[in-house]
Amino acid sequence: MANITILDKEFELFIPYEKIRSVVEKMSDEMNAKLEGKNPLFLCILNGSFMFAAEIYKRITLLDAEISFVKLASYAGTSTTGDVKELIGLNEHLEGRTVVVLEDIVDTGITIAKVIDQIKSKNPAEVQVATLLLKPDALQNEVQLDYVGLEIPNDFIVGYGLDYDGRGRNLIDIFKVVG
Ligand code: 5GP
Ligand code: MG
Ligand code: MG
Repeated sequence: MANITILDKEFELFIPYEKIRSVVEKMSDEMNAKLEGKNPLFLCILNGSFMFAAEIYKRITLLDAEISFVKLASYAGTSTTGDVKELIGLNEHLEGRTVVVLEDIVDTGITIAKVIDQIKSKNPAEVQVATLLLKPDALQNEVQLDYVGLEIPNDFIVGYGLDYDGRGRNLIDIFKVVG
């Protein structure tokens, strides 16, 4: 497949959709087994995770599985780490529930750590975390990851929901930046 150009950057095919699909199938099989008998709430972290979340959720065979969507709001820093991220749109009562976070990619791990903190402050019975992609070399602190699709090198990627400056989310396959 020929390389593609988005804005000022060139990208090459990295993970074809067929591979993504087989990874998602494996993850959802594992979830179906682990979540049996529960009433899990899947929580999709917008924007990047919407395709992954849809693809996982339609393969969840438990009739008691619910899904909801939250977005991260960043505020100019009052904390030492820079941005303070808060979940917006979280109206569900999480108290006593099994929550399964669906994230597109874990890079430094800062975002997912904040998400887990926010969710835990609502007193759920249990929090599980699923990420389609993980960059192990970028990870700064240990984070809780219950389901990991694929480990990838420290390259910038787009496609399958992930963007470069708002573009490229509609790509079916995942591409990585050339250079
Ligand atoms: P972290 O807080 O783990 O460093 O970053 C997580 C967030 O950064 C992800 O949810 C995603 O929005 C963004 N991100 C990290 N790596 C990439 C990448 O390679 N491509 C894109 N498009 N976004 C990324
Ligand atoms: Mg994300
Ligand atoms: Mg982005």
